[in-house]
Amino acid sequence: MEIIKRTPQMKALAARLREEGHRIGFVPTMGALHAGHMSLMQRARQMSDIVVVSIFINPIQFGPSEDLDRYPRDLAHDAEICMSRGVDYIFAPLIDEVYPENFSSYVIVEGLSDRLCGASREGHFRGVTTVVSKLFNVVKPHFAFFGRKDAQQSVIIKRMVADLCMDPEIVVCPIVRDEDGLALSSRNVYLSAEERQAATVLHRSLEKVQVLFGAGTREAAVLQAAMEELIATEPLVRIDYIEIVDTRDLEPVQAIEDGRPVLIAVAAFVGKTRLIDNVVLNGEI
Ligand code: AMP
Repeated sequence: MEIIKRTPQMKALAARLREEGHRIGFVPTMGALHAGHMSLMQRARQMSDIVVVSIFINPIQFGPSEDLDRYPRDLAHDAEICMSRGVDYIFAPLIDEVYPENFSSYVIVEGLSDRLCGASREGHFRGVTTVVSKLFNVVKPHFAFFGRKDAQQSVIIKRMVADLCMDPEIVVCPIVRDEDGLALSSRNVYLSAEERQAATVLHRSLEKVQVLFGAGTREAAVLQAAMEELIATEPLVRIDYIEIVDTRDLEPVQAIEDGRPVLIAVAAFVGKTRLIDNVVLNGEI
C-alpha cells in the first residue's frame, strides 16, 4: 500500500491505471476510520481491482461553529486499517493543493442541499459536492462507495453525478452499527459514557418506527410523533430534526405509500455532539 499526498502524482497514477484497464474503486473519507469505513473498503475490494481511499478533512464543509479543529486525526492508525482491508492507495492530499489561494469554483446541487441537514448546516453540502467532484477528477474512479449513514449525502452525490454526466457509478452501502445499535461515527469519540448510552435512543426510535410500520401505520405524523416521544425520554438528547421524505427528491411525504421508498432521518444533539441516523422503508436509496 502506498500513501500519496501530491495531487499531480495521484492524477497521473489514476490515468495510468485506467489506461492499463484496471477498475478503480474509490472510498472518500475524512479519516478517523472505523468499521463503517471498512465496510465500504470491503465492498470496493469486491467490485474493483484497485482500491483508493482518500483521507481529507474538508474545511469547507464545516460551519464556523463546528468541530473542524478538534475533528479526530490519526493518519498512522488509519493507514493500518486500510492496509488490513487490502487498500492499494491512500490519497491524503495537502490542503494547499486542494484549496490553493484564489480558489473560487464550487459545485452546488440546488434544492436537495438545502433540506434536512442542509437547513441546519448552511453550506455543508456545497463543501461536500465540491470536494467530491475534485476527488473524482483526480482519482478517476469507476465506482465510488458511500455509506447510507449519510443518506442525504448519497442522494445528493447521485444527483450530481447524473446531472453533470460524471463517470463513477455510485454504490451506497448499509449502515454499520455498534452492538448497542448506535451508528458508528467518527464523532462518537466526543461522547461521554452517559451521552453514549443516551445516544442509542436514535436507533431505538427508528426501530420503533419500523415496528409501527410493520403493524400497518402509514401516516408520517404518527410515526414522527412516536419518535419524538421516545427521544424525549432522554434528557441529554435534543432533536435537530426528524424528517420523513421521498428518497428521490427529499420532499416530505404525508403517508407512506406501497412501493415508494421513503427515508426517515433524524439528527440530534447529544450534549454538544450532533449525530444523525436513518432508516429507509420500501426500498433503498
Ligand atoms: P466520513 O469520514 O464521516 O466523511 O465518512 C466517509 C464515508 O463513510 C461516508 O460515505 C459515510 O457515509 C461512510 N460512513 C460513515 N459512518 C458509517 C457507518 N456507520 N456505516 C456505513 N458507512 C459509514
